[in-house]
Amino acid sequence: MIRFRYQDLIQQAPLRPPGYLEAVFASSIRRGQDVLMTADAYRAIRDQFPIFLSPPPDPSDKSDPSDRSDMLDPSPPSHEAPPLPTWDTMIANAATESVKWAARGFPLAPKAALEFRRLQCLGDATTAPCEHWRPKLWLRTGGCELCGCSRAKLWLATTQCPAKPPRWHAIPQPKT
Ligand code: SF4
Repeated sequence: MIRFRYQDLIQQAPLRPPGYLEAVFASSIRRGQDVLMTADAYRAIRDQFPIFLSPPPDPSDKSDPSDRSDMLDPSPPSHEAPPLPTWDTMIANAATESVKWAARGFPLAPKAALEFRRLQCLGDATTAPCEHWRPKLWLRTGGCELCGCSRAKLWLATTQCPAKPPRWHAIPQPKT
């Protein structure tokens, strides 16, 4: 078994190619703070994602890389919020996602991928929520201001974050 630290995977996510993290979560199991994967599964992912995007270190950056205090502020960063999609657009978005989901056989996101998506949207005690997450939408259960979708979207394996670039991706599905 190959062992990753869950927190490391999350922190390195922006450096990885689209779909890499979802593929890792779909092929592994979570044990506490560890993510465990067989060597075969790891090799398959390396074959699928041969390019690992890691920026060269910035020699002028003298900050302590272990200092994550910038992530401790739970308040969303201020930004000029875009207007919410209209009801027509939200219904059209939901219908499109439902059709895509049904066409793939109604796959749900694996538990670890769901946790990652939740972390990206809602944040947690140490990670700020996405600036596009609106906690008061959908009868205060929360939703995304970009697509207008409720948190139910996070459960569907076929959905993707609408931000550019996306903060989480659809889970690769076996070809039918
Ligand atoms: S933009 Fe993406 S990460 Fe942000 S709230 Fe919407 S779905 Fe979640």
